Amino acid sequence: MASRDWLGWDVREAPCATEEQLLAVHPAEYVESVREHCRAGRALDADTPVVPASWEAGLRAAGAACALVDALLDGTATTGFCGLRPPGHHAEPARAMGFCLFANAAVAAEHALCRDGVDRVFILDWDVHHGNGTNAAFHARADVLFASLHQWPFYPGTGALGDTGSGDGLGFTINLPVPAGSGEAEWLGLVEHVVMPVARDFAPDLILVSAGYDAHRADPLADCRLETDSFRQLALHMAALAAELGVPAGALLEGGYDVDALAASAVATMQALEGGGTPRSVPPGPLVAAAGERIGEFWPSVVSR
Ligand SMILES: [Zn+2]
Repeated sequence: MASRDWLGWDVREAPCATEEQLLAVHPAEYVESVREHCRAGRALDADTPVVPASWEAGLRAAGAACALVDALLDGTATTGFCGLRPPGHHAEPARAMGFCLFANAAVAAEHALCRDGVDRVFILDWDVHHGNGTNAAFHARADVLFASLHQWPFYPGTGALGDTGSGDGLGFTINLPVPAGSGEAEWLGLVEHVVMPVARDFAPDLILVSAGYDAHRADPLADCRLETDSFRQLALHMAALAAELGVPAGALLEGGYDVDALAASAVATMQALEGGGTPRSVPPGPLVAAAGERIGEFWPSVVSR
C-alpha cells in the first residue's frame, strides 16, 4: 500500500476502542480476562497467543472499526478500508479464538446502531472461514443481517446452511457454505443470486464487509480458488448495493495468509469500493438452488429470481 501511495486515500491512525464500545458486544469479565491474558503473555486459545502489546493492538483494531463507521456516517469518507490486525470475526462475545481478540465487525455494527438514523446494518463476511463470532453476536437479532460465505466443513465448524438465526433473528443469519475447491462460479453466484436480493430487501443503513482474503487460490490455510479479481467482483457487488440504497459501505480486514495475494486483493477491493462499476454476472448454480430452498423461506425474492 505504501508503495502505491495508499491509492491516494487518506491514511488515518486507528484510535483505541472505548470501554463502552467493547461492552456493547463483550461482557466486562471477558474484556478484563483479555487484558489479563495479554499482560501475562498467556495464550487465549491454541491459535491465539498474545503478548503485552496485543492489548493495545486489539483495542485499536476494534477502535478502527468504530472510527470507520463514524467517518462513513458523518460523511467525512465515502468509503473506507480498515487494515486490521488482529482480525475479529472468530471472537465471540465471551470467547477469544482463531487469532481474534475482539469482534471488530460486531463492535462496529453496535456502534453504528447507537446513532440516530441507523436502524439496520448489513455485514457480509467473505473470509474463507465462518464468522462464528459475528454469527453469535447477532444470532437472535433482526437489526443486523449477517451473511457469511465460507469453506465447509472447515474451521471453526459452525456455519451450516441450516443455521439461519434464532428467536427474533430467525432469517437474519445467512450461512452459505461452499465445498473445498470452490472458485468464482460458486462464490460470485451465491453473492449475486442469494446475498444481493436478501440485502436489497433488508435495506440496511450501513454496509460492512468482513473482508478476509484466505479464499484466494494462493492462500496456504484454505482450499478455495478465488482470484485477485474475484475480490474486485465481490466488492463491486457491495459498491453497487451501496449506490442503489444510497448508504455507505466499508471493509474490515479479517484473514489472509499469502501476503502478496492479500495485498493485491485488498487493493482490488479498495478500488472497487471507491470506483464502483458493474460486477460480472454468473449463472446460478446448484449451491444457489440449495440455498434458495432454505433462505427463500424467509426471503421470497431469493427463490423468485
Ligand atoms: Zn479466515
